[in-house]
Amino acid sequence: MLTCKQVPEELMKVDLNWREKAQLRFHLFICSRCKELKRQFDNLNDGLHRYINKAPTLDANLAQKILDKKFKKFDP
Ligand SMILES: [Zn+2]
Repeated sequence: MLTCKQVPEELMKVDLNWREKAQLRFHLFICSRCKELKRQFDNLNDGLHRYINKAPTLDANLAQKILDKKFKKFDP
């Protein structure tokens, strides 16, 4: 069973196996806080993609800063 703290990590993974996917989906189903987090994560992804499309290279530090800021408040 995933904990809320593990969810951001799972959301950032690109190669989830079926078991991890099922666990994540189940957690999002029962946890409205993480469902909201997922929504924000999707928005953030859209934003990053837009940024990447505009900029020739993505500043890794900037991306990390955005992610840190987004997920900080969800840490206990
Ligand atoms: Zn949760």
